[in-house]
Amino acid sequence: MKVYRVGGTEVVLLKGDITEVEAGAIVNAANPYLEHRGGVAAAIVRKGGAVIQDESREWVRRYGPVPVGGVAVTSAGRLKARYVIHAVGPVYGDPEGDAKLASTVRNCLAKAEELGLESVALPAISTGVYGYPPARAAEVFAEVLRSYGYTKLRRVLVVLYTDDIYRTFEEVFDRVLGGT
Ligand code: ADP
Repeated sequence: MKVYRVGGTEVVLLKGDITEVEAGAIVNAANPYLEHRGGVAAAIVRKGGAVIQDESREWVRRYGPVPVGGVAVTSAGRLKARYVIHAVGPVYGDPEGDAKLASTVRNCLAKAEELGLESVALPAISTGVYGYPPARAAEVFAEVLRSYGYTKLRRVLVVLYTDDIYRTFEEVFDRVLGGT
């Protein structure tokens, strides 16, 4: 674990499973149809319960697919969070990918603020099935987390599932967010 400070907000890098994390909301790396089949999405539904998939389908039925960069909110079932924020990152190779990934991360923070939360946990969106190189994603995350205008959020956790991705994020965050 590593803690960085951005004004009055802590940015925490954590190695582990996001479904175990206690936070106001945890973020899911979702697809536009909110069909939570693989990766972190499947783990979230497995641990949190079918209510998350059911509410996700209802969301898509009402509002349509979530655009790249966008977010949708459901309850969190049995997870130690009040909400799941389902965020759709870009697929690597999109020429506007970095800007879209930055929007995705910003929209997660904005939604958490709008929900009045003091903490939110994000996975390394787009670095799994969507193919983003972790170093590139880490640069985007670090820059957004450094420059965001936090209001209520006191703690933003970035939860990395593998040692490799954790180390990559740590290197970049040390440089951009001033760790030691
Ligand atoms: P995407 O389609 O956005 O790439 P994935 O779910 O395939 O989403 O992967 C995103 C990241 O989440 C990957 O770095 C993967 O290692 C990580 N991941 C998978 N399971 C978990 C989990 N339980 N907790 C945290 N991160 C996870």
